Order: sequence, then structure tokens, then C-alpha cells
Amino acid sequence: MKRRQFIQISSTVILGSMSLKALHSLSEKLDEQDVMMPMLFVGHGSPMNGIEDNAFSRRWRQMGREIPEPKAVLCVSAHWLTRGTHVTAMEAPPTIHDFGGFPKQLFEVEYPAPGDPALARETAGLFTQTEVGLDHDWGLDHGTWTVIRHMYPEANIPALQLSIDYHKPAQYHYELARALSALRKKGVLIIGSGNMVHNLRMVAWDKIDTPFGFDWALEMNEAFKSHIADGNHQPLIDYQSFGKAAQLAIPTPDHYYPLLYILGLQDKGEAVSFFNDTPMAGSLTMTSVRVG
Ligand code: ZN
Repeated sequence: MKRRQFIQISSTVILGSMSLKALHSLSEKLDEQDVMMPMLFVGHGSPMNGIEDNAFSRRWRQMGREIPEPKAVLCVSAHWLTRGTHVTAMEAPPTIHDFGGFPKQLFEVEYPAPGDPALARETAGLFTQTEVGLDHDWGLDHGTWTVIRHMYPEANIPALQLSIDYHKPAQYHYELARALSALRKKGVLIIGSGNMVHNLRMVAWDKIDTPFGFDWALEMNEAFKSHIADGNHQPLIDYQSFGKAAQLAIPTPDHYYPLLYILGLQDKGEAVSFFNDTPMAGSLTMTSVRVG
């Protein structure tokens, strides 16, 4: 028994009359895990990473073994942009093949992880800033399944997605994320899935599978990493003030906002480490972050 639990129990016993309500709240506390689940920002890159055995997917697989097995995964994916915020609440989220021009084999992938409607309701209830909708139409888009099918190949961990209200600014997303904090103690793995540097118009097609980055992509990658390592989040929220390089790295913020959810949830002093820190095709970076 952990000291905190012992103190809670003994103080309750000292009170003498252990009401049902006290008993209930005590058992709820004991249900909580004492460890905070780590969190990940994952650069997901090409949908082909979902079926390829490459350095990125192997690292995802290894990460799935490194961190404690979660009770559920909640993913903020760059590919679910909405008005208002929604959480998937179906029993069996469908696998969404939200891309074009890829081999048939990729369209045939199904990732049959269950949903968790009770957790979805609980998640929606955590938010005070906005009403979060329970969604029955979306599912798992490729920002989610291409990554977690490597981490949890048995598809036995319930998977949910939280949408990104695309009508709101960076600061809003950073602050909104705090509402999810309680889930970390309940064994939920929170993942932000996007790419810090993501400019599809500037892709160097002759270097499509090459770990190559344009100067501005490398410059922004280093700037992002430096501020993340220092826990200096405001410049990352105000990313437009980085100027020209940031405009090229983040022409639209869809793949960047998932990072702000993970940073918004980071507790003061919590450790960060980087993985898959590789530029691709000139104008993308796969750089990923583990927090905690
Ligand atoms: Zn993407």
C-alpha cells in the first residue's frame, strides 16, 4: 500500500463513521493508478508507415513495449478537424482510410480496436471550457491507426479520438488540453499525432523516401526541440513569430496542433525525450516527443 493511500484510509477510519459516500470516494482513489502515464507526440508521416517495417514503425513498436500497458488510448489526430470538440463514443470505431493514391494493401488494413463509450462520456465531462460532443460517425483515421497498430498489434486496447476545433487558435488548444490531465492517472495513454514540420506543397519528390530536410525545415526542427527541451512553451504557441521558416514549416496548423495538446498537458519539470528525429522528403519532420 502506498503512503498516500494509507493516509487516506487511516484518516477516514479515525473519523469513526465511514459513510457510504466516503467509502465510494476511497475506492475510486484506490482505482487510480499511482503512476502518471507518459504521453506521446508522434510524427506520423506517410500513411505507408502503417504497413511498412521501417525505422519509424519499429520505434513505435518498441515504444508500445516500453511504456506501461494503457487501459485505453486517446489520440488527438491531425486528420480530425471539426467545429467544436468531439470525442469518438462508439463501441467499435471503424478504420478510416482517409487518403488517396496509395496501394490497395493500405486500404485493406482494418484495425479493430474496441471503443470505450463510458470513457468517452467521462472524457467529455472533464471539459469546462466547452461542451464536448459524443461522436458516432468518425472512428480511427490514419493519424491514429497507422501508429497504434504498430504499438498495439493485437488491437486489444480501446482506442478513442478527440477532434481538433479548427476554428480556434493555438493558445486555445494548449489550454484546452489541461482538461485531459485526470485521464493520465487512470492509465489512459494520450497521443498527439501530426508532424511538427509539414509542408506537402514543398515535398522534394525526388527525395520522397530520403531522410533529407530543407534548411528551413531543419532550422524549425531545432528551434522546436530546443523550446520543448527547455519547457519554454509560449514561443511554440506563438509559432508565427518565428517568421518565414515557420510559415514554410507550418503553412496550416493541422499537423502542429496535436503537439500543443501534449505540451499543454505536461506538468512542470516533467521529463521530455525525442525519438524518430528525422527529416523526410525535404519538407517534413518525423520528430516525436515522449513526455513523462
Ligand atoms: Zn497526416
